[in-house]
Amino acid sequence: MNAIQEKIGTCDHCGGQTFDGDCIKVMGHRFDAVKDEADWRGPIDKIIPYEALAETIAAIAFYTATEAEWEDSQSVRGIKMVRVQAVGYRAGPAGP
Ligand SMILES: [Zn+2]
Repeated sequence: MNAIQEKIGTCDHCGGQTFDGDCIKVMGHRFDAVKDEADWRGPIDKIIPYEALAETIAAIAFYTATEAEWEDSQSVRGIKMVRVQAVGYRAGPAGP
């Protein structure tokens, strides 16, 4: 097995593939929620629920090879929100 294959596993929840312990299906949804609709390789700057933060950071790392940064944002209807930003795939080490 190579280094990449060692990171692939099976999701306990959906039976799909995981990468480094994170479900690829879940990461796909999380990345869809923060990516630039018109240009997925572009910079990321979105407000998301705090509860989605860990999965979103993993998704951004998986899809863009960049490290996301985040800060507290205003709560919405009592739900803690955070602003998540990343330079995006094109500006990252794997781009363009
Ligand atoms: Zn899963």
